[in-house]
Amino acid sequence: MPKEKQIPSGKSLTRVDRLIAGYTRKSGTVTHPDPEITESIRLGLARNMDEVGKLLCPCRFYPDKAEEVKHRTWICPCDDMQVYKYCHCLLFTTEEGLPITEYLPENHEGRDAYGEVKDPTPDQGRLLKHHAAEREEERRRHLS
Ligand code: SF4
Repeated sequence: MPKEKQIPSGKSLTRVDRLIAGYTRKSGTVTHPDPEITESIRLGLARNMDEVGKLLCPCRFYPDKAEEVKHRTWICPCDDMQVYKYCHCLLFTTEEGLPITEYLPENHEGRDAYGEVKDPTPDQGRLLKHHAAEREEERRRHLS
């Protein structure tokens, strides 16, 4: 059976479920209305937890996962979520299943894909919003 199809451990699934319950509450987001989408991200996060001991975002390719987890950028809830409230995996969304894009920089691919999606709960989440300049610098470095 290919590794990515392995069933994650119950311990990791519980950890992910706690994250989802806690973070939707804190950020004022909801999980995607299509349960298949939510479940596939849930499983991906739990598999990464089993593999590298961290809730590494399952929607990205990493040349070296062990190296990647030394940085916090893509540990869920990732920097994009904590700075911009943007979840490119579509785990934390609006009721309509859209990622919030209103805080993203102008030329960000999330805006290109979804247009401007307003935050229905602007008083919640974005604990790292004061790091927006650093996050954008990091993103640009990885684009070049
Ligand atoms: S994009 Fe960020 S917040 Fe969304 S699932 Fe991936 S790591 Fe978590």
